[in-house]
Parts: sequence; structure tokens; C-alpha cells
Amino acid sequence: MPRIEVLDDNMINMIAAGEVIERPASVVKELMENSIDAGAKKIILRIEDGGRKLISITDDGCGIDAEDIPKAFMPHATSKLKNRDDLFNISTMGFRGEALASIAQVSKVTLTSRTSDSIAAYTISVDCGVKEAVKPTSGDCGTSIEVRDLFYKLPARSKFLRTSNTEMTHITEHFTRIALSHCDLDMTLIHNGKQSYRLTGGQHIRNRIEKLFGKQISADLIETQSGEKGIDIYALMAKPSAARGSKKFQYVFLNNRYIKDKFISHALKEAYRGLLEPNKHPIAFLFLKIDPTSYDVNVHPTKTEVRFVNANLIHSQVLAVMREKLLSTNLDVNATLNRPVVSLDSPAGGTNDGGRRERIAAAMGDFFKTHSTQVPEQKPLNFSGSHKTSSFASGNYPSGHSQNYNHAKTEVFKKEPKNEIHSFNSDIAENDAKPLLQIHNSYIVAQTEEGFAVIDQHALHERIIYEDIRKRINEGNLSSQRLLIPETFEVSPEQLQAINNNSELIKKLGIELEPFGPSTMAVQAFPSMLNKVSPLEFVQDLIDKFQDNTLGVDAESLLHEVLDMTACKAAIKAGQALSTQEITQLLNDKENIERASRCPHGRPTTITFTMDQLEKQFKRTGF
Ligand code: ADP
Ligand code: MG
Repeated sequence: MPRIEVLDDNMINMIAAGEVIERPASVVKELMENSIDAGAKKIILRIEDGGRKLISITDDGCGIDAEDIPKAFMPHATSKLKNRDDLFNISTMGFRGEALASIAQVSKVTLTSRTSDSIAAYTISVDCGVKEAVKPTSGDCGTSIEVRDLFYKLPARSKFLRTSNTEMTHITEHFTRIALSHCDLDMTLIHNGKQSYRLTGGQHIRNRIEKLFGKQISADLIETQSGEKGIDIYALMAKPSAARGSKKFQYVFLNNRYIKDKFISHALKEAYRGLLEPNKHPIAFLFLKIDPTSYDVNVHPTKTEVRFVNANLIHSQVLAVMREKLLSTNLDVNATLNRPVVSLDSPAGGTNDGGRRERIAAAMGDFFKTHSTQVPEQKPLNFSGSHKTSSFASGNYPSGHSQNYNHAKTEVFKKEPKNEIHSFNSDIAENDAKPLLQIHNSYIVAQTEEGFAVIDQHALHERIIYEDIRKRINEGNLSSQRLLIPETFEVSPEQLQAINNNSELIKKLGIELEPFGPSTMAVQAFPSMLNKVSPLEFVQDLIDKFQDNTLGVDAESLLHEVLDMTACKAAIKAGQALSTQEITQLLNDKENIERASRCPHGRPTTITFTMDQLEKQFKRTGF
């Protein structure tokens, strides 16, 4: 066995550099963080060749005293920690005292700095750990650092560097993270002499998001905040329709530090549960402020991971505030119509437009008036009160010619339509009797306050059934019906196991299964609200689901999947003709359930068109 030796500083720095400095972007991150810790109000970053050739930063922070300048490059040298307690109450971005030493170990660094009480600036150069003497020079208050030829003595490391563009993408990402969490900071990013970003200090976060990600992302963000249980949360969330294929647009900041945290990511995902299609990830910007003693940042050299004292509390607070906001927001998808071919200048502008809106509303009314007669086999609606005694009240949709789907809520009848369905006035927003139209037996077109909505009847009904069963299960109020003749089926030992493992859930669903011989089971009772669904087929699919789910899916996810399946089976289908009463019932139910904008798989149920969009398309914006 060779003898044990203590590594020299050079080796120590080299190893530390390997941990902290992975690529040019890591240098950029460390330097920006140091400027922020120095109280800078303004930073300018200049990059050449993706950072390979040059990374330079200039700040207007507090500067470094001349005699401290060489110390700044020593390993474990920091002005940010004084004693042990500080380590558990960190309010600066840095504290490990490693970055400058590591960077200077693997590149050529020149640092120039001047404090406000010094008449001169001082400068030092370090080449791969070899320091020159500190010299006076001229310069403004603050610090500027130039890092050249990163990894030039380490071919093994420089080999891993990617193209200038790729390295620049990583740098921009770090720039973005700092920009989002430090709106007060004036920030400039220049690559190869060309300005990539110029962000003025004191911008609102929404403006920053627009500058960094464009209007499309910034325009529609839903804002929410809360300050309970010692956790301040401010969130900007995009509507589900803006979701992306990756988690790239999820930014979480803890006390202004960008972090990656699996509890928070999970909460974010849960908040959007049922609102997104599979493989879609929400766009969200989340800003948390909590007491620094309630988490530890000293977990990882790059400090993007933290350890919370009470991760569950963070999880539940984040989930609650986001979910509540999402559920109380109208998330209907806004139709994006093509731009009009010729744009007409609108001298009037705005929405206060001397009756234009009313004229268009009237025109739309006319349109629906002439077209609504096309609802297949539509029965004239009588709102004079007779519906109170109609089949609505029994909890059923009225039986249509082809369909009698069995689901309803009684509270919807509180709404008493004031007008006959075909009577119009320009004040459509106040008019409860809205014109309705079913197209291709699949979509419903309905007038709304802002314009009109197109609704996918199957998707919406799925959501209604989903929410209804979920509510009934939670309230223990899902009634089931005994089958006159039990339906029997064969089961394998694995299937039997799956049934036994999920007996609780089966019971909750209002299904009664009993052994009917050595390898036979019988469905004895089945939920009454699923009277359009074959009990046998349903139970067999349910068992398949249980077997698919043996990989330890949590109860909540399994319930979601089962409800999802139930809703899909029980919902009215596309291609099914509906009576006006059935349509009205669907739309009323939409108003009374949660997450009505999305079906349980996350697809939209409703797409809205605004009058403004119509005006543009009809080129009516000019009058
Ligand atoms: P840390 O940030 O963890 O303290 P660094 O190696 O990044 O360690 O920096 C070492 C020290 O150099 C800092 O503690 C700070 O005192 C000083 N320093 C670095 N950059 C700046 C800057 N831009 N302005 C003022 N002081 C700086
Ligand atoms: Mg630092």
C-alpha cells in the first residue's frame, strides 16, 4: 500500500475546480453571483467564442481592498462566513470561497478592483494558479474580472467543451436565472461584440420574462401569491394550453437562488394534474421566500440543490396555492385565428367603440338565429318553469331520441333563464338564454360574454362525469344497484391477487365482487350512474388497470386513472346527436364543476373565440 500524502494546494484547487467549473457557463454563474454578493446594481458580461476565449464581467459593487485581492484567489477564502452559525443562515449567493481559486487554477485571470474609499484601483493576474504581484492601476469603483483561455492547460477538459453556440446556450441559461431572480439588477450580455440582452434594472418580472422568453410566454401568465406558514410564494403560471414538451420553462427560486428540487417539481406537476396532456410540462415561474435557517444550501458545490427541514410543508403549500389558482381561473383555450390578410388601421382603437360591439353582437345573434334551427331534431325549449318537473329533476339528462345519458346535478336549475332562447338584445352578456348549436353531432357552439365558444361534447362530458364521481366517492355518496342476475367471469390467481389488493377502491367505486366458485367471480352490484356501461366489461378493464399498476403507483394516481377510464366509458360520444335540453344541461354542468376547461386526459374541452378576433377576421376594425 503506498503511503498517505496530504495533497498540495495546487492539487486541491484542481480537484475543486473539477467540481465547480464544468464549463464556461459555470464560470459565468460564479462571477455573476459574486457581483450580486458585492451589492452590484449593474453588471456587464462580455463573452467571446462561447466563453472559451474570454469571459469578462464588470460590476459596480463594493470592490475588494488592495490587500485582500490575493486572498480572494486562495482556496476556502471568503468574506461571507465568519462563524459556524453563519453556515446555517446563509443570505449570500456564495459562501464556500472556492470559485475564484478554482477558476484561476484552470485559466488566465485578471482581476481589477476599486473600493469606494480608495483613489486607485488595483489589479492582479493569475495564470493557472500562479499569481503575479498586485499593482495599482486606474479604474472605476467596482470589480472587473477577465477569464481567458479556460482549460487551456487541461486538454482532457477542453475536449468536453461543445460548440460556441452550445456553450452560449448554457451561459444564457445562467444569465436568465440570475435575471429572473434579480429584477433590480441592470444586466447586459454581449457575445462576440454583439449585444444579446440588455435588461434595465427595476423592471417588473413580467417585463423580464417577456424580454427573455418573448411575448407569447409572458402575455398569458396567471399570477398568484400567498404567505402562509412562514412560506411566501409568488407564482406566475402559464395556462395549460401553453405547456411544453420539456421542463425547460420551469424556474424555481428560493430566496432569489435558482434551485432544482424534486418536491417542488412534483408539486408543480400535481398542480396541473388533469389539465395537461401526457408528456406536457407546465410553464411556471415560482419565487419562494423562507427563513434561511429552514433549509440547507450546503448540499452540493453548485448550490442548486437544497435540503428542506420540512419538505412536505413546502410541497403542500406550493401545490395548494397553484392548484387553487388554476381551478379558479378560466382556462378555456383561446382560438388563435390567422391574421387578416390586409390589416386595417383602426383610428378608434380600444373597446369603447360607439356601438360597434353591439352591431357585431347583433350580427352574431342573427347568425345563430338562422343556424340554430339546424340542431338535429331540436325540440323547442320551454323555459316557463315546466322543466322543474321534467326528467332534469330526477338527476337524469332528458331522454333524447338516441341517447339517455345518465348524469346530472340538480343545483343547475337555480338559474332561471330570463328570455326565450331566440330573443336577442345587444346586451348579450346579461342574457341567460344563449343561442346553441351542435355541429357534426360532435361540437357545441355557444355564445359567451366575449364572443363564442366551441365545446367538444365528449371531452366536456368526460370531465363532468370524472368530477362528479370523484366528489361522490369523497363524500361516500356513490350509490350502487344490485344486479338482478350477477355477471360472472373467470379469474387467474394474479387477477384475484389484483382484486384483493384493491378491494378498498373497488368498494369505493360502488362495485361488489364476490367469489362464485374456485376461479370465478361475480359482479353483484354496480354504480347506478354508470347504467350505460357494461358491468362485466368495466370490471375486467378495471382489473387490467390494477395489474398494469403493480409498479407501486400511489393510490391517488390509481384513482385518477380509474376515474379517467370510467369517465371515458360513460361519457356521451362524438357523433351523438343531442337535444337542446341536453346541450343546455352540459353547459350548465360546465359552470358547476372544477377544471371544466380540460378533459381528464388534459385535452381542452372548450375553445373560445372573442369578438375582437372576429372583428379582425371580418376586417371590421376600421369603422
Ligand atoms: P465566495 O463567493 O464563496 O466567498 P469566491 O471564490 O467566489 O468565494 O470569492 C472569494 C471572495 O472574493 C469573496 O468572498 C469576496 O470577498 C471576493 N469577491 C469575489 N468577487 C467579487 C466581486 N465581484 N466584488 C467584490 N468582491 C468579490
Ligand atoms: Mg463566489
